[in-house]
Amino acid sequence: MTVELHRAPVVLPVGAPPIADGAVAVRAGRILAVAGHDELARAFADETSLTRHEWRGALLPGLVNAHTHLQYTDMAAVGQAAHSGFETWMQAFMELYEGEHDWLDSAAAGALLSLRGGVSAVAEIVTDPDAGSAVHRAGLHGVVYWEVLGWTDAAWAAGDGRARVVEQLRALPSPPETGLSPHAIYSLDTGVLRELADLAAELGVRQHIHAAESAWEDAYVRTGTGDLADRWRRNGRGDFALLQHGGSGRSVISYLDDLGALSPATHLAHGIYVDAEDRRILRDRGVAVALCPRSNAVIGLDPPPVAAYLREGNPIAVGTDSLSSSPSLSLWEDVAELHRLARAQGYGEPDLHARLLTAATVGGARALGLDDAGVLAPGTRADLAVFQTASTDPAAALAELVETGPTVAAATIVAGRIRWQDADA
Ligand SMILES: [Zn+2]
Repeated sequence: MTVELHRAPVVLPVGAPPIADGAVAVRAGRILAVAGHDELARAFADETSLTRHEWRGALLPGLVNAHTHLQYTDMAAVGQAAHSGFETWMQAFMELYEGEHDWLDSAAAGALLSLRGGVSAVAEIVTDPDAGSAVHRAGLHGVVYWEVLGWTDAAWAAGDGRARVVEQLRALPSPPETGLSPHAIYSLDTGVLRELADLAAELGVRQHIHAAESAWEDAYVRTGTGDLADRWRRNGRGDFALLQHGGSGRSVISYLDDLGALSPATHLAHGIYVDAEDRRILRDRGVAVALCPRSNAVIGLDPPPVAAYLREGNPIAVGTDSLSSSPSLSLWEDVAELHRLARAQGYGEPDLHARLLTAATVGGARALGLDDAGVLAPGTRADLAVFQTASTDPAAALAELVETGPTVAAATIVAGRIRWQDADA
């Protein structure tokens, strides 16, 4: 079987030291070896079937977009506008969402943009089964999560919610893995969230939940009050237990923990409105948070406490969210924003570049339960990305990527196959 040798001036394996003039040997979709180029060239000198790729720039693990909705790629008009808060954004979103869409086309466009940006795996949330097939067709790795929302406990029991969700989940094409996304705690009743956690465990699928995203949500959960609670009551959704009983008296994270929703098989999106105790719970439960700072800014929310997450050692990943709340699907642009925020929040350690690269690669892979991705190491999936860098010094190239990361990859390789190559690179 053919061995492919990918050589680059800088190789950033993640979890192992950077290599100047390095190479990665790949066979049958898996990484065989990672080392200096000359060493690997010698090791494979007698290989009868060897294909060489000489890349310029930095070669690293494919990026993992740990929170997105590629389905909403055709809703960029909402993401390009500025919003003053969750309510105005949600109104703009709902107006466009309810119009005509070809969700498969939209998600397929998002999958292509992802590959173009060096992403090889995604946490994709869908409300439409056709949209779910786009990730499968594009050959991306990751998890497609079926989004569940709008159920009260009574409707769930009367409408056989459990059987319906199981049916919807099974309608998604696989690979990749499929999972459940209970949308958020304000769009699902208390009993339903508990049931979904049980169901996910029973089916052995992962969960991905929007959590601690807005101050509204926080008030809603703690006391059943605030603008979001009022809006639900006005819209005839006052049946939710939290609204009937004056909230849970707890934080979003502590409430989810009480419902059994937090386990290493779950990861959250956003995690903005969390305190030290919430972050401790997340660490104890092994729950990663996908930070999406540019989406937060577009919606008019506060930035995530990335410095605290880093200092306290929480598992973190990076997500772009969808084009309906973000200017682009470039993961590096969110990494650059996290770098800026971490410094502004007082994180002064010299490991910031490396830690953010980790979050964007293996951090995301772990959040999605992909044990054999996110690093360049023998035996792992051959998911690689190449980015042009001005510098060929590994530390300088890493700093360049993290602080001003290129939005278009020179190449993106998934399971050993070149899925994107920039004609200009
Ligand atoms: Zn989202």
